[in-house]
Amino acid sequence: MSVLICGGAGYIGSHNVRAFKAHGDDVIVVDSLETGHRASVPNDVKFYEGDIRNSEILDKIFTENNIEAVIHFCAYSLVGESVEKPLKYFDNNVGGMISLLEAMQRHDVKRIIFSSTAATYGEPKKVPILETDPTEPTNPYGESKRIMEKMMHWVSSRYDIRYVSLRYFNVAGAWHDGSIGEDHKCETHLIPLILQVPLGKRNHITIYGDDYPTKDGTCIRDYIHVEDLARAHILALEYLRSGGESNIFNLGSGDGYSVMEMINAARKVTGHPIPAQIGERRAGDPARLIADSTKAQNILRWKPEITRMEDIISTAWKWHQSHPDGYMD
Ligand code: NAD
Ligand code: UDP
Repeated sequence: MSVLICGGAGYIGSHNVRAFKAHGDDVIVVDSLETGHRASVPNDVKFYEGDIRNSEILDKIFTENNIEAVIHFCAYSLVGESVEKPLKYFDNNVGGMISLLEAMQRHDVKRIIFSSTAATYGEPKKVPILETDPTEPTNPYGESKRIMEKMMHWVSSRYDIRYVSLRYFNVAGAWHDGSIGEDHKCETHLIPLILQVPLGKRNHITIYGDDYPTKDGTCIRDYIHVEDLARAHILALEYLRSGGESNIFNLGSGDGYSVMEMINAARKVTGHPIPAQIGERRAGDPARLIADSTKAQNILRWKPEITRMEDIISTAWKWHQSHPDGYMD
């Protein structure tokens, strides 16, 4: 039996491919390569290039292989672009989920692990955030992910499909040996942008606002290492394998770090002064996003292991130093 990793050539997907392989699972990848990289997937992993909205490619994959479960990472995930082009987001994210669930139903595949996001909560009324807190997304990206969760809920209550939705907070870092990491053509995430300064690709990092009601005025986020995140997917699949019911879990460390603290940690790791300038607030940025992941700790037995920001940033730095231009594909 194999595990199908949809979006396995992307940043988080490629780390999961490695982690599932190391765990002893047989892994198959499907990816359109729109934002992913063929070079991020090991050559000994069976790879299908294609769009999951295309039911023919899914039928081919499910017919040619004995798929036990699907791990679903495919999505467009740029918040700003989602506000500009909402239908592009609903088409790919929601459309991809419809196509995938239909194919799972046609081919009798019963388990799915899904990449959800803290963006499903919108502007939280309190932190840390619990899974039971209100979900009021403030952009089409978060809304599309919440709709995908609801689709899985209704499908699972009608058919014999069980799901785990993992709501990630801020995913960061790279594989420990620096061989794979984050390479987005359109990069919006804080850590890779900070590291572009010591790499000589930009001369300063812009802090999006220093007038938030936080200790130093900059936004606070909950950063989680991509390898800890991958481990949660393996535990989530084990949970479904052992009969666990459909469920939703937050994945974060429970600790918040400000943008300023992240820049200081990167200065320590790289030994570079990393000049910073204060810019405008970025529209829609909540002041504080921190996860309460007690439920994942209690039920999945998951706990993040790489919790020092310097350690998370060190792995990203290793990747970017050894691949200053990313995968170059
Ligand atoms: P990514 O863009 O690097 O990976 C997504 C992968 O899916 C890419 O390889 C892309 O080519 C592929 N893809 C997209 N649409 C497809 C389609 N229709 N058919 C086939 N392949 C398709 O993004 P990422 O940062 O690795 O994020 C992975 C998932 O995690 C996304 O669903 C994202 O919404 C979610 N997420 C990410 C973060 C984060 O901090 N990076 C936080 C919360 C949630
Ligand atoms: N941020 C920043 N400058 C940048 C990029 C990001 O100040 O160049 C801030 C952003 O406002 C947010 C935090 O860093 O408060 C994390 O942003 P990121 O885009 O990495 O993740 P998000 O929290 O949006 O999912």
